[in-house]
Order: sequence, then C-alpha cells, then structure tokens
Amino acid sequence: MQIHILTLFPQMFQSPISSGILKRAIDQKLVEFNIRNIRDYTHDKHHTVDDSPYGGGAGMLLKPEPIFEAVEAAKAEISPSGQAFRTSPEEAANTTPIILLTPQGRLFSQPIALELSRHSHLILICGHYEGVDERVRQHLVTDEISIGDYVLSGGELPAMVLADAIVRLIPGVLGSEDSPVDDSHTTGMLEYPQYTRPPVYRDWAVPEILLSGNHAQIARWHREQAISRTLERRPDLLGKANLNREERQLIDRLKN
Ligand code: SAM
Repeated sequence: MQIHILTLFPQMFQSPISSGILKRAIDQKLVEFNIRNIRDYTHDKHHTVDDSPYGGGAGMLLKPEPIFEAVEAAKAEISPSGQAFRTSPEEAANTTPIILLTPQGRLFSQPIALELSRHSHLILICGHYEGVDERVRQHLVTDEISIGDYVLSGGELPAMVLADAIVRLIPGVLGSEDSPVDDSHTTGMLEYPQYTRPPVYRDWAVPEILLSGNHAQIARWHREQAISRTLERRPDLLGKANLNREERQLIDRLKN
C-alpha cells in the first residue's frame, strides 16, 4: 500500500514512521509513505497556503490551489508498485480514496480501517488553521473522516491515527503472535481481560482457568469475558455483535 499524506508539517510524521509496527511494515515493503508539503505546490514568492475567509470570520483558511495541485501530483505518482496493485495506473489513480481529515467527517472506526486497508493507495489531506476552502470538499475529496467529536489544531495527528489503524490490518504486517482477530471492535465487542507472568502478584492471582491448559474451556472463558465486559462498558455494541442463542442467554443472565 502507498499512503500519500499532504500536510504543512511533514516533519511531524518522522517519529511515528520510524518506530514500531509502521517502521516494520515499511521495512517489509508492505507500506510506503509519501509525505508532501502542501507549501511546495504554491507559486508565489511567499509560498502562501492560506488566506482570510470571504464574508469575514475568525482565522485563516487553506487555499484550494496548492491542495488540488498536491493531490494531482500524488495521483500522477500512483504506480503499479503498491502491494495490492491489480489494475492499470490510471484505474488505480481514479479509484484511490482522497480523504480529508475533518471534525465534520464520518466517525473513524475499526470497520472503516478494514475497508481502507483493502486499497492499494490512499491520499490523506491534513487541514490546518480554520480548515480548508469548501471547494476542496466539493470537487476534490472522495471521503471525509473525523477521529472524534473534538477539534484538533491540525489533521496530522488524525492522519497518523488512520495510518496506524489501517496499516496493522494489512495482511503480513502483524505477526501471527499479535494477530488482530480478537482485538476490541474487530469482533464487534471489546476484548477479554488478559494476564501474563507472574501467576500471583501481590496476592492477586491469575484466573485458574487460564493456567489449566484446557484450550476449549479457555476459549469459552475468553468469549464469556468479552461479552460481559462489553455489556458492562459498551452495551451499545452488543446489538450488532454476532452472538449465538447461548450467548444471548448469558447476556440475559448477566443483566439479571
Ligand atoms: N473550523 C473547523 C471546523 O469547525 O470544522 C476546524 C478546523 S481544525 C482547527 C483544523 C484542522 O484540523 C481541520 O481542517 C482538520 O484537518 C483537523 N482536525 C481537527 N479536528 C479533527 C478531528 N476530530 N478529526 C479529523 N481531523 C481533525
């Protein structure tokens, strides 16, 4: 996968991509980051990227021209080198999601991360100041994503959040030992509680079943714990979770 990021602050991405899972994915050539400075697509002496809003109002807005040109440059570079590449460069460029990070977008979630992890290319646009000229939304982007109902000062942290959540779902990025299948929100529920050595710490013992070696019973315990934890913390998730009759009965018992 190639992830193209358009930002006024390219340096903010250096640390997240030089350690952990993202670095490992880059080293394994499973993902490639192409970080562009929007300012490089200006044509005036002062490299102006922002201007005051028509009609007044606080702050400055990002001008449309450098953003359109930066996206066009990213699309021109979309090449058959991406891992999941199965189509012609033109087709890939035309089907590449062009995502504006904005608090007004659809709320980011694990299913959206999974959906985006299946693309061979993504273009992420980081806004700043008061945001971007409306014509960027109307005529350039194909998707708008928010990472939560709060306002950050720029789209860089949201872009990193998306990149991290998406890249770990690309097949081969996580080793089998840290497979994402049981992760919270992947199953539609929260993950069960987990323990590691020592078996007793300050009189607090690990649940006996986990030391039993009985894999069937442990799997059942994991499932029951995931259900009760979800019921306790995020009952709203259970409506959509894939549960059998026995598990639904367990929920009724727990509720009572
Ligand atoms: N005036 C804008 C509004 O009210 O919708 C907010 C602009 S915000 C200060 C500057 C930039 O930060 C946005 O253009 C966007 O790229 C990014 N941003 C801020 N909060 C965000 C969020 N919750 N999710 C995604 N991007 C966000």
